[in-house]
Amino acid sequence: MLIFHTAERLQHYLSAKDIRQKTRGFVPTMGALHAGHSSLLQVARKEADLVIASIFVNPTQFNDKRDFENYPTTLPSDLTKLIDAGCDLLFLPSVAEIYPAGYGLQEPYQLGYLETVLEGQYRPGHFQGVCQVVDRLLTIVQPDVLFLGQKDYQQCMVLEHLIRSEPALQRIQLHICPTLREKDGLAMSSRNMRLTAEQRSKAPLIFQVLQQLKQNLEPGNLAERKEKASAFLSSNGFRVDYVEFAHAQTLEIMNEWNGKDPMVALTAAFLGDIRLIDNIILTDGRNCSAESV
Ligand code: AMP
Repeated sequence: MLIFHTAERLQHYLSAKDIRQKTRGFVPTMGALHAGHSSLLQVARKEADLVIASIFVNPTQFNDKRDFENYPTTLPSDLTKLIDAGCDLLFLPSVAEIYPAGYGLQEPYQLGYLETVLEGQYRPGHFQGVCQVVDRLLTIVQPDVLFLGQKDYQQCMVLEHLIRSEPALQRIQLHICPTLREKDGLAMSSRNMRLTAEQRSKAPLIFQVLQQLKQNLEPGNLAERKEKASAFLSSNGFRVDYVEFAHAQTLEIMNEWNGKDPMVALTAAFLGDIRLIDNIILTDGRNCSAESV
């Protein structure tokens, strides 16, 4: 695996005639890699000639400074995981390399409704930062296919919107991969390694609640289901930001279900200062694979 620290050197490598012809699959990450990241790389390995990953902990997408400062870094083991998963190139830039002119955005991304709900509501500015860094990375890497995890459902929608609305990015295909979980159902996440033993034992309740929301789903009002789910998490020591049902394609919050619309349940909740998010597709609508537990 080759490692590049600057956009210039990476682009120089990619511009060689024999490399230019290869299809490029790209997996952007913030490091502290786990099997969920590896699964994206493995799918990319099957679908693209050249598998490119990036590791960059993007300061502009953290609305909470402490979360940024505490974000885990595990570079030596990340390198092993990347090599094992068949990654060809790693882009490992510095902050100055990604933001040579500073963090400021010349113009905000027009994300509309998508950045006003759920993660957008609870993490103001988060998706602007996500778009800022992914726009820059896509411009540098110029992939054919971008691989993302369904674990970050709203992020997938935001980035789909970004790709569709930026003419220079429109040719990029999006491949959304299923959420990889621990045996007890907890969605793999870099933040999980910061959980105490007690928090770790409670964390799988998030997915259990989502699965319960899926069980016996019937058309009608959804308010009671949401409230019960939220109350259950709170009574088990979670600080709940939200438990919501949303339209699987528009993310419009749903308080009633007509029995037909594609729907997803999403939640975000803290254990201590660690914020966990997860989701489950209730009735299919998006081009996502089935849940794998
Ligand atoms: P991150 O390093 O958290 O920014 O994640 C990088 C990519 O890996 C994103 O597309 C995530 O959605 C994806 N990802 C994170 N956790 C998982 C998981 N448990 N299963 C599948 N993909 C994941």
